[in-house]
Amino acid sequence: MIKKTILVTGGAGFIGSAVVRSLLSEGQYNVVNVDKLTYAGNRLNLGAVNDSPRHIFEQVDIADAAQVARIFAQHKPCAVMHLAAESHVDRSIEGPGAFVTSNVIGTFVLLEAARKHWDSLQGEDKEAFRFLHVSTDEVFGTLGDTGFFTENSPYQPSSPYSATKAASDHLVRAWHHTYGLPILLTNCSNNYGPYQFPEKLIPVVILKALQGKNIPVYGNGKNVRDWLFVEDHADALLTVLNKGTVGESYNIGTRNEQNNLEIVQKICTLMDDLVVNPVVKKHESLVSFVKDRPGHDWRYAIDPQKLENELGWKPKENFDSALRKTVAWYLDNQDWCQKVIETQRIHA
Ligand code: NAD
Repeated sequence: MIKKTILVTGGAGFIGSAVVRSLLSEGQYNVVNVDKLTYAGNRLNLGAVNDSPRHIFEQVDIADAAQVARIFAQHKPCAVMHLAAESHVDRSIEGPGAFVTSNVIGTFVLLEAARKHWDSLQGEDKEAFRFLHVSTDEVFGTLGDTGFFTENSPYQPSSPYSATKAASDHLVRAWHHTYGLPILLTNCSNNYGPYQFPEKLIPVVILKALQGKNIPVYGNGKNVRDWLFVEDHADALLTVLNKGTVGESYNIGTRNEQNNLEIVQKICTLMDDLVVNPVVKKHESLVSFVKDRPGHDWRYAIDPQKLENELGWKPKENFDSALRKTVAWYLDNQDWCQKVIETQRIHA
């Protein structure tokens, strides 16, 4: 069987590595994994698939036009799944420059290389080529207490991170409308699961609780996010890649709204159950409210009906069991946590 080669960007990151693992678990794909290995990217996230003969790793910056052109010419992918980005809102507030370079310029460089490659294809190969851009619901700004983001929600990004993701979404759509590049776009809610770098809410809470340290919660903890298990996300991305209509965007979510404090409380209850700590009997006692993030969006909630009705996608996990799995994974993989934090120190 001739295997399809998919070029995945950001495949050493949290979601990208789940996508690479998922692609390689299906026999019909080869993966070219293009990742700069910033502080957030680590080959440890790929586990056993690092050594798969169907996985080729290219340590390259997507903003490096010459290297990106070389990769397209060398590997001739039949699709691109673009996940590489600077992804942490707090870091975008402290230093937005890297976000503009990777998320905007990097996407532009990739689109130009993909366009050139697609122009050179013919017949069925040209017909089948896809450029799937992975984006966020944060491009839609914030919701009040009611309503949902749909694919038609206006773009109103609030943070430097979401503004650069919005810019990249506009570039991707423009490359479709202007040049005909066969794009697909997804906007998803907050992901959680194994291998998430320990600077995001869920791993931070687990590790602080484990160390018996204060668990920081922004503001009053009532900001709402709509949580998506990372393996369900990877599965949804493959569904969009294989079944999505060219030029369309799809919102990915699982109707799982929780406020931050609820999430923290659930993790603390799981920690009470899974960890014996003679000093900390109730992990919730560690919660410490801290000054709110500037411009903190109030609520995100995804309406996933288009993905469900048109492409027939459904998640496999439910929140309580997937959160338990996630907490257990961090407890079982403390060496991974130490190693990725150490790598971050080297980058700093
Ligand atoms: P992550 O920070 O864990 O991983 C990003 C990866 O991209 C890292 O491996 C990093 O090394 C790589 N990278 C960054 N800049 C690069 C560059 N210039 N060239 C090559 N590689 C580069 O991020 P994630 O959470 O896995 O997010 C993946 C994608 O999904 C991003 O585009 C993000 O905007 C989007 N997204 C994430 C979430 C979430 O909850 N994590 C939600 C919605 C959308």
